[in-house]
Amino acid sequence: MRKFICAKDEWRDPLNTTPNQPTHSSSDDFTKACADIVGTQHVLTDPNDLNRYGVDWTGQYSGTPIAVARPDTTEQVSDLVKLCGVHRIAMVPVSGRTGLCGGGVPISGQPSLMISLERMNRIRAFDTAARTVTVEAGVVLETLHAAALEHELIFPLMFGAKGSCMIGGNLSTNAGGSNVVRYGNTRDLCLGIEAVMPDGTIVTGLQGLRKDNTGYDIKNLLIGAEGTLGIITAAVFKVSPKPAVRATAFVSVQTLSATIDVLNRLQDRTGGAVEAFEYMPKVMVDTICQQIPNVRPPLDTPAETGLLIEVASSRADDAEMLEDGTVALQNRVLEILGELMEEEIVIDAMIAQSEQQRADLWKMRESVLEAITENGPFYLMDISLPLAHVAQFVAAMDAFCTPLGVLPLMVAHLGDGNLHYGLAAAEGHVFVDLPMDQVKAQAFDLLRTLGGSFSAEHGIGQSKLDLMTSLKDPGQLAVMRMIKCAIDPQNLMNPGKMVPTI
Ligand SMILES: Cc1cc2nc3c(=O)[nH]c(=O)nc-3n(C[C@H](O)[C@H](O)[C@H](O)COP(=O)(O)OP(=O)(O)OC[C@H]3O[C@@H](n4cnc5c(N)ncnc54)[C@H](O)[C@@H]3O)c2cc1C
Repeated sequence: MRKFICAKDEWRDPLNTTPNQPTHSSSDDFTKACADIVGTQHVLTDPNDLNRYGVDWTGQYSGTPIAVARPDTTEQVSDLVKLCGVHRIAMVPVSGRTGLCGGGVPISGQPSLMISLERMNRIRAFDTAARTVTVEAGVVLETLHAAALEHELIFPLMFGAKGSCMIGGNLSTNAGGSNVVRYGNTRDLCLGIEAVMPDGTIVTGLQGLRKDNTGYDIKNLLIGAEGTLGIITAAVFKVSPKPAVRATAFVSVQTLSATIDVLNRLQDRTGGAVEAFEYMPKVMVDTICQQIPNVRPPLDTPAETGLLIEVASSRADDAEMLEDGTVALQNRVLEILGELMEEEIVIDAMIAQSEQQRADLWKMRESVLEAITENGPFYLMDISLPLAHVAQFVAAMDAFCTPLGVLPLMVAHLGDGNLHYGLAAAEGHVFVDLPMDQVKAQAFDLLRTLGGSFSAEHGIGQSKLDLMTSLKDPGQLAVMRMIKCAIDPQNLMNPGKMVPTI
């Protein structure tokens, strides 16, 4: 990795500086100054609150902050950031706290102020003509879904944590989920942001322009930056037409490599209307059915290679009820699946006949993380591969894992090549005794060979810093460090996350 900034003999990693260690009284002064900005009731210092905020969703990462400040306006965020700069206190921005990589908690032992955006939860403007919505960072994703539906529109970012995660976190992790195959990830949906930079400068870009070539793209620098370059306070997003009809199917396919044929056939014949294309192998469906109450397998004969597919259309003729009582789009999907059955690509399929059946299928999919967690200890990889190499990776990994007593528990946003490849203990084996380092080394070697990424949608946080060091292209990493040092020279903005020290 390239070093920079100072001559070699005087060189010290600027990302390895420690923020000020406040004395007891200076800590009191600091929290009082925070209270002057946001109001006493919005500076949490009770140990129960600090412990609650200081642990991440996985329970694997924790660090106690000096306080949690909950600003209500962008100006208050800016004032807090300036205050932290003066006192050299680290800042950890947080939104819904569902992140899975330890990015939203302080580094243990590092004096930090957590800045929670939860009170900045207003929908500032809905422009139905331009099909845009301007929201604050603390808006819960599901609240935005509901707001869009009120205008017969949708905000298509969709995943299991939608009831808790917030827009600021979605942008900062560039979240993906199950609709990326059609609508892209959070970055693709965003037209502009408002943010506070590490020196307190407010950047505003909420015009909702679809074209704006006026220099460096600050918006895209902050999206996916996991709070290391600034605090996002608001954003303007595209919204899309609400589907008039959906065809939601569970399909059993002969082989994993044949799933690409299913995806492409459906895309070709529906004008690219596939919204979700999720891989759910039998072992995963079985685990969900065992661990989550009231979930039953969708097909009578279990599907080794199962797919949860959703095709959607906003066209009235696709939603048309035909003489036999069936719906046009669902008929077309059944027809395509029928052809694929004749070609011996698809084995079996069911299509949801009601909203309840559709909800049941999605409940099954969205219970995956809960089911894996209930099943016992596990290690989860969030990786991506070119579609053509997914089957090769899975076959090689499954073959490597099985003799070692490692049970691969996997689901995938398969339409965009994103695998959540979990590793648990097979029956008769104990997780702590598994040769996990060997398994991980094999997985990351394969990823490198097949041109994949070690982090698809959850981000880096603290959990993948070692992989950033070993697997990220050294040139890109050097530029990331230059950007971080230039924008945050005091290294106070979520330090110790995403960009590894040397
Ligand atoms: C059950 C479950 C299912 C999930 N499924 C998916 C999935 O399918 N796809 C997916 O992509 N993720 C998924 N996740 C992960 C998680 O929900 C996403 O990463 C989400 O975008 C995080 O949003 P949050 O508001 O909870 O962010 P937080 O956890 O609060 O923060 C995440 C990161 O962003 C930073 N941050 C937060 N707010 C701001 C801000 N305003 N400005 C700057 N930085 C900020 C934090 O410092 C932290 O580094 C899932 C999580 C769970 C628990």
